[in-house]
Amino acid sequence: MSTAVLAACQALRSDVFVEGFAPEWLQIDGTQIQLQLPFAAKQAAEELIQQFKQEAPQFAHYDWTITVRVEALPAKAATVPAGSSAPQVKNVITIASGKGGVGKSAVTLSLALALKAEGARVGILDGDIYGPSLPTMFGNLTEKLTFTPNRKMLPVNCWGIEGNSLGYLVDTEAAAIWRGPMASRALEQLLFDTQWSNLDYLLVDLPPGTGDIQLTLAQKFPLTAAVVVTTPQNIALADAQKGIAMFQKVDVPVVGLVENMSYFRCGQCGHQEAIFGTQGGDDLARKYQVPVIGHWPLATALRESLDEGKPLQVSTPEHELNAVFAKSAQQLAANLWYLLTPQAE
Ligand code: ADP
Ligand code: MG
Repeated sequence: MSTAVLAACQALRSDVFVEGFAPEWLQIDGTQIQLQLPFAAKQAAEELIQQFKQEAPQFAHYDWTITVRVEALPAKAATVPAGSSAPQVKNVITIASGKGGVGKSAVTLSLALALKAEGARVGILDGDIYGPSLPTMFGNLTEKLTFTPNRKMLPVNCWGIEGNSLGYLVDTEAAAIWRGPMASRALEQLLFDTQWSNLDYLLVDLPPGTGDIQLTLAQKFPLTAAVVVTTPQNIALADAQKGIAMFQKVDVPVVGLVENMSYFRCGQCGHQEAIFGTQGGDDLARKYQVPVIGHWPLATALRESLDEGKPLQVSTPEHELNAVFAKSAQQLAANLWYLLTPQAE
């Protein structure tokens, strides 16, 4: 019987599970099925199981348990500064953009919460030295960090997400006028002196651009992959293109492009308007062979929720945007795994 179930599981396909559930993820004992996923896509798996039960009613009485055990994927070789060590996290993903204000920080937090909902342990390193925004989005502006006896910073914890930001260490107005070397040093401290718990995914929110800071990070920090955020506007796309080219040049795979502020949907009449143009993100993704992991609308509710330090996923779980974030997070986790798992010979 179990071979028939196994075959049926592999035949199940979705955008996230492009090869179905692999046999090595499954343990079948009588009518109990244990599914252990190597990447964070618990809700996507639940949906697929529902579909399975409908399509294969002969297996509808099977009882499923899903666990997530995220695998560490190979990171790019990095030259960690002398005296420092790489962080003890499984996968480091940098969220980058060429241009400021395209929603990089909003995407970072929304993806972090969505990955957590898919069963992962997640942290955010707010590396935007010139404009730290994590304390605002976390709604804990006055919180201060604590330190371990050997002077490592312990991250703050908010809604089950770990976070560290320059905003918890210094007056951010002062930091805004720091010049290059000082900003780089501060970023290095955040990168190498934070004691994360054993995270599955650490999301690093970078300052916009493709300058020294971004390049230093790519060279010194063991990055697993990058996600690039853009709007469909030409000027943002041109800068996003530079970002993608930079990561590709330093061998950091870009596993996702988020086109943010893709369209505006009127809350009153439902009319959709592509304020910043259409197709831009898709064309760019095709040109550089980067997978698109989402088109996110321009939505007042998203901005308000982040300004108030109460993300939609926390304040309004039923909000339709949360499904958009979930889809992008599942796609990101799946892309990392499918694109970066070393192929068995
Ligand atoms: P960046 O980090 O790229 O500079 P932010 O994430 O801070 O950009 O976004 C800039 C502003 O736009 C913030 O106020 C943020 O809440 C808002 N914002 C980001 N994405 C959206 C969106 N899809 N809809 C509405 N507002 C957004
Ligand atoms: Mg930002």
